[in-house]
Amino acid sequence: MRKILVLEDEDSIRGFVVINLKRAGYEVVEAATGEEALDRLAENPDVSVALLDIMLPDIDGFEVCRRIRATNMNIGIIMLTARTQEIDKVTGLMTGADDYVTKPFSPTELTARIDAVCRRVGIEENTQSKDELRRGPFILNMENRTLDRGAKRIKLTQVEYTIIKLFMESPGKPMSREDILHSVWGKDYFGDLKIVDVNIRRLRMKIETDPQNPEFLCTVWGFGYKWGK
Ligand code: CA
Repeated sequence: MRKILVLEDEDSIRGFVVINLKRAGYEVVEAATGEEALDRLAENPDVSVALLDIMLPDIDGFEVCRRIRATNMNIGIIMLTARTQEIDKVTGLMTGADDYVTKPFSPTELTARIDAVCRRVGIEENTQSKDELRRGPFILNMENRTLDRGAKRIKLTQVEYTIIKLFMESPGKPMSREDILHSVWGKDYFGDLKIVDVNIRRLRMKIETDPQNPEFLCTVWGFGYKWGK
């Protein structure tokens, strides 16, 4: 059974989310503060996805996200944002979240997002290729789902890994943002295209020597991106 962490300080919202997730068949771990969430995660290393509220009484949801990602690149992270926090969506994704859901959300929307994140982060993936892809200074190991640049291991989230794999499999091929969104997030994803740009920006900071002048994740103006100049 999939285990989900729900971090939300407002009892009524947390109760609503927890009841609906349990009804949908998830096992749920609850937390009302950021510190509590980090403790619960340490006690429950088998949590698949964490739902993080942003405005909390102690440390905010972005900081919780950063601290989780410092040690765990595999867990799925979804930020719970308020409608007025448009800018926070991008900040959340830059700190390593995989997705965001805007409040108020329906139980159906929330479980759809959780399922999508589970699929994307490869939690259910058991058909892993044992191959390696080598492109320039990079080696993508598809068995271990790791990326090395020379002797240096680059820490990637599972979503970032999926994006890099997509590019490294088709070097030089221009891909539209829609193509990338559909390949990585799935055809049923109903978020916006901005999530593609945010992830590319974050990846450039990780893999490029000069993220402002990328050599690998290059922009195709007015269209999208491609691997290589
Ligand atoms: Ca809150």
